[in-house]
Amino acid sequence: MAATEKRSSGKGNEDLVEVRNLVKYFPVTEGVLKRKVGNIRAVDDVSFAIKRGETLGLVGESGCGKTTVSQTMLRLTEPTSGEVLFQGENIFDKNGRDLMEMRRKVQIVFQDPYASLDPRLTIGAAIEEGLIIHKMGNSEERVETVLDMLKLVGLEEYHAGRFPHEFSGGQRQRIGIARALVLSPEFIILDEPVSALDVSIQAQVLNILKELQERLKLTYMFVAHNLAVVEHISDRVAVMYLGRLVEVTTQEELFGRPLHPYTQALLSAIPVPDPTRKRERTILAGDVPSPLNPPSGCRFHPRCPIARLGHCSIEDPQLRELRPGHWVACHYAEDFL
Ligand code: SF4
Repeated sequence: MAATEKRSSGKGNEDLVEVRNLVKYFPVTEGVLKRKVGNIRAVDDVSFAIKRGETLGLVGESGCGKTTVSQTMLRLTEPTSGEVLFQGENIFDKNGRDLMEMRRKVQIVFQDPYASLDPRLTIGAAIEEGLIIHKMGNSEERVETVLDMLKLVGLEEYHAGRFPHEFSGGQRQRIGIARALVLSPEFIILDEPVSALDVSIQAQVLNILKELQERLKLTYMFVAHNLAVVEHISDRVAVMYLGRLVEVTTQEELFGRPLHPYTQALLSAIPVPDPTRKRERTILAGDVPSPLNPPSGCRFHPRCPIARLGHCSIEDPQLRELRPGHWVACHYAEDFL
């Protein structure tokens, strides 16, 4: 079994979410008869767990499959195979009321909340929308909840009557967080929530997310293309490459002693704030190959600076636990221990 993190350390003891052997292929068709000519292997046997109260950072370049993983965990798309368990139950077995209740408990904050806000709806109405859909409270109670949510994310009550275009990027992201929180979720997928914001505003939004997590006992999966963004918010980090997990471990281990050459290359691209220190940068050759036709053996081998072709291009490395809680999919990761 490839790309499987069998056990993980984290905050609580109970797994709130568990992804088991998740596979998602998108068929590629050709001609008027739409004859199937192949599959885009977006996610290819990925497993991980997230403990209650912890934040898992899911990181990888664009096209690595992290968005497909998130969409499958929200049940916005059905998997080709595999399971996603939420509180021990497979979300793909749920229908009707159970599915609705699961959807309330699992929320998402998007990279650009502006795109998901109706420009003709006031912010108050946009936040209230979820409460109406889920039939939560009467109109007075809903208004009260909306105002509480605005305060919770650092906005003012009068903002409820304003429209999306009247807000800055940072304020819109607070609105996105309020829309997710209004349903009292337990698990929130943060999909590149600060990528579109200025660096100074990024820190503010990250701080709010951390504060809310502690206060409301939330569990997060923080999806990002950049390792630097997840460093201060994640308890553990999972690195994805071309549909597979290549390294999963605690934040301290990943940033202090990365064992996969891909993680090492991503880390080497993060600027060091101290001008007297220099970090040796590893430039990866070429672009991420197409998931339509991934490389044989280790999918990273055409770009890997230490690839041994006779071995790496033939044999697919499995995730192995090389230190307690530190999983790596590389034949030669021991060289970095
Ligand atoms: Fe590089 Fe080989 Fe390790 Fe893949 S298995 S990361 S190609 S050394």
